[in-house]
Amino acid sequence: MTKKLRGDHSTTRCPHCQSDIEVGADPLVGDRVKCPTCKKVYEILWLYPIELCQATGHVSTIAESTIPDV
Ligand SMILES: [Zn+2]
Repeated sequence: MTKKLRGDHSTTRCPHCQSDIEVGADPLVGDRVKCPTCKKVYEILWLYPIELCQATGHVSTIAESTIPDV
């Protein structure tokens, strides 16, 4: 069973600057979208509702994860 959104375009909100990001008529999990305002690239994590996470395409900044000290 496929669930389709009515309308031609879906939009979601940029987690960074709250601008509307167009994700196209038929977004898929794993698709990458770019915020037109802050130019950040996000990957679609989930649909209905659309959830975004920041895409890790570039290696310019290494996110310092909390490594537990042994
Ligand atoms: Zn943005």
